[in-house]
Amino acid sequence: MAGLLAARVLSDHFTHVTLVERDVLPHGIGQRRGVPQGHHTHGLLAGGGQALDRLFPGLTHQLVTDGAVRADILARTRWVFEGAPLAQVASGMDGVMCTRPFLEAAVRTRVRARANLTFREGSHVVGLRSDDAGRRVTGVTLLNGDVVAADLVVDATGRGSRISQWLLALGYPAPGEDRVEVGLSYTTRLFRREPHHLGGDCGAVVPPTSAGKRGGVLISQEDDRWTVTLIAHFVPGAGETPDEFLAFAAQLPCRDIYDVVRSATPIGEAASARFPASIRRRFEHLRRFPEGLVVMGDAICSFNPIYGQGMSVAALEAVALGSVLESGEPSVGKRFFRQAARIIDTPWTTAVGNDLRMPEVTGPRTAVGTLINAYMARLHRAAHRDATLAITFMRVANLLEHPARLFAPGIVARVLRGALPLRLRRAVERAQAPAGLDSSRENVAHHSS
Ligand SMILES: Cc1cc2nc3c(=O)[nH]c(=O)nc-3n(C[C@H](O)[C@H](O)[C@H](O)COP(=O)(O)OP(=O)(O)OC[C@H]3O[C@@H](n4cnc5c(N)ncnc54)[C@H](O)[C@@H]3O)c2cc1C
Repeated sequence: MAGLLAARVLSDHFTHVTLVERDVLPHGIGQRRGVPQGHHTHGLLAGGGQALDRLFPGLTHQLVTDGAVRADILARTRWVFEGAPLAQVASGMDGVMCTRPFLEAAVRTRVRARANLTFREGSHVVGLRSDDAGRRVTGVTLLNGDVVAADLVVDATGRGSRISQWLLALGYPAPGEDRVEVGLSYTTRLFRREPHHLGGDCGAVVPPTSAGKRGGVLISQEDDRWTVTLIAHFVPGAGETPDEFLAFAAQLPCRDIYDVVRSATPIGEAASARFPASIRRRFEHLRRFPEGLVVMGDAICSFNPIYGQGMSVAALEAVALGSVLESGEPSVGKRFFRQAARIIDTPWTTAVGNDLRMPEVTGPRTAVGTLINAYMARLHRAAHRDATLAITFMRVANLLEHPARLFAPGIVARVLRGALPLRLRRAVERAQAPAGLDSSRENVAHHSS
């Protein structure tokens, strides 16, 4: 995905772009070897959807026309935090829900349509080429010995990128790595979606908690299907047989996912994956880095997939690469890494901060971090009833607002009020409401609607 998006941006700035891909790509929609995660649920955050539309105007509209599901992220999805769903209210944020191969095929079709771009499929990159002085990358070498020359090389080979070894081979230092062990197991299966499932809602998200360590995601997809992913954190994952899958769903802290799995018709087989650790490579800290090279997507940062951030961050990075190239200045790599670091900082910090609630997750635990997690738990509990809190949280989680918004005085006041016993809360709300408006009733009414 990062490679396709990079190619789209490069085609505006270079006479010719070659997209080098190890797989022979499917015609249309299909799973492929190079993206094994394509079998698993891929959520697209609202911020990522907006970035994709900037790169390919009208893309999300076309996805929906072709069968993806568009629905309000909060009103039509059950986000179960701290034991109950966040207030299901209209948030003004639409989610576009479809499988990874469906989204990738739509993006690929648009990239293929660019006149100055060619795909070189079935081509395995094994190293970088540089000029005699070793200052500039001049292309890549393929497994068959061929060389693809280029003024700018973008490494978007994903989490397993060999970029550190390739840099060392050219005499450059490798980036430092932040690694957070998360011990995740994913098991995913598709089901036929019927209108009565989940009371007509489009999704349910039940993140694993430190107590249960099991979670699940159920999201509607193109062609009247559900994708169901069962998630285990440091405990054995769900089995792939129907009975094992259902037994795991029964252990989740709410019944929404279990009820659909129990009654829906399965499609195809289940698939499993392990995701041991989130990894962030700190290219922005490198003092020496060659000209003519950029790294993007999972090759820079591979996020805990529970938060659905990877594709959206790749789209935001592609937009940033466009603005770096626009300026026409040298040191494209260094300038891009500075911008990418700012894009990555928010999703990385929020995800790692939340992961540290699990005692098994390794990483620096600070008093501030513990305080923030305690605050977030209170915020989620208050957001069961408080529409404003639920919407603000979702805007931050969808990369539309900075996390600092969660600590704005008005939001903190709502969190504190939400933590009061019911009788006191009502009294505070009545005292604060403008004459004639009982805000506590308004929020409860939103919730029940
Ligand atoms: C289990 C799981 C679930 C996920 N869920 C979500 C989600 O819900 N939402 C979300 O946004 N993200 C999710 N992600 C992350 C998402 O898949 C990636 O962030 C996103 O695809 C961007 O990655 P990328 O393009 O950098 O790498 P990839 O998508 O992994 O693509 C790398 C490409 O490089 C090719 N390649 C690799 N090596 C070579 C080589 N040497 N030569 C030539 N080609 C090569 C591969 O064939 C492939 O096409 C999930 C990831 C996992 C593992």
